[in-house]
Amino acid sequence: MLLAQTEDGRIISLVKVKNKVELEELKKNENFICPVCKEKVILKTGTKRIWHFAHAHNTNCGQEFERESDYHLQGKIKLYEWFQNQGFHVELEKYIPEIKQRPDLFFQWKNKTYAIEYQCSKIDLQLLKKRTALYLQNHITPIWIAGRTRLKKVSHLSIKLSTFDLSMANFLHHQPLLIYYCPITNLFTILSNLFPFSSTTFTASTEIVPACKINFSQLFQWKQGRNFECKESWLSLKQRFRTNTHLYLSTCYKRFFYENGCPISLLPGEAGIPVKSMIWMQTEAILWQGWILVKFIIPSRRGETISFHTIFHRFKEEVRKGFFVIRQLPFIKDSHYSFAILEYLQKLEKLGVLKRTGSMTLFQKETEIIIPQNVENACQLDRDVWKRLNNLEKYRKDK
Ligand SMILES: [Zn+2]
Repeated sequence: MLLAQTEDGRIISLVKVKNKVELEELKKNENFICPVCKEKVILKTGTKRIWHFAHAHNTNCGQEFERESDYHLQGKIKLYEWFQNQGFHVELEKYIPEIKQRPDLFFQWKNKTYAIEYQCSKIDLQLLKKRTALYLQNHITPIWIAGRTRLKKVSHLSIKLSTFDLSMANFLHHQPLLIYYCPITNLFTILSNLFPFSSTTFTASTEIVPACKINFSQLFQWKQGRNFECKESWLSLKQRFRTNTHLYLSTCYKRFFYENGCPISLLPGEAGIPVKSMIWMQTEAILWQGWILVKFIIPSRRGETISFHTIFHRFKEEVRKGFFVIRQLPFIKDSHYSFAILEYLQKLEKLGVLKRTGSMTLFQKETEIIIPQNVENACQLDRDVWKRLNNLEKYRKDK
């Protein structure tokens, strides 16, 4: 930690110490205690690590603070300075006794209170959720900034995000935004337009911005592109899924689709298209959408009614049985996984497969869906579906 108290109650913050001489002076003349547990802490002024305070004895207090890496300490200091340079009255490691929390940074902005948690290591997911909930209950908006070292880009196509990392997403307009910061390069990396292809594989728009070129308000109000920007990545992931990845799926999916006359690799191009609220679905998009097609759309006759409520009801049963998995996202408000299902039906409506019948949730089958003959044909159909959707959206914008 970077903050301690002197015996006469003054707070000493190491970010305000100018040089080594001043530091040694402090060390010689003062005894320090932890502002939270009041136990003795030692000022560490070695050359190997960043200057910091550490509890003198083993303690339960601020265990996380005790384990902070240099990368973390440096990031915290730089972020502190970044806020200060923008004129924020920012407090470092402020202890909030009501909720027994000590966020890395704390400040007020436009009548709102913010806690910044700079998270470099993995902590218990329940702890992260509990902490976020405590802040929110106390009308503090938590903002999680992850250490850049947490970001693992697997390929040019996609990134891997664990449930833990996703829990650090800041939800703006129901859409997740992940913010990473690296104190060594002084760069922010912002991930937006996150679409889950599978449980841990996502496509995303990645933007890298030097800290000096962006301020907090711009960062927090990051304008996300409204259109899906990762077309090529998504189509390549689909191709890979059809040729290879599907082989590693659980047998329950293989059996279901096989028994319904449509092997997974040959699901129609309409299976697995990005929809806005699909972040809720942990199960592969191709599978949950394929299930809707195979179970409800393909067997229906033209003109037959297709009801969102019927599909949702059956879907819920499959979730209960564990066939589909829903992500736990306790901090998204005013959204639900059923939104993804309705949005999918609306996409099918746009594609001309369905037609709406007055009500928002009742559709009629309009055209037959093409079942691919082979994988090559399926990949071509994936592209066709994409093109049709894109043209329709362009047309709507032009109007
Ligand atoms: Zn303590």
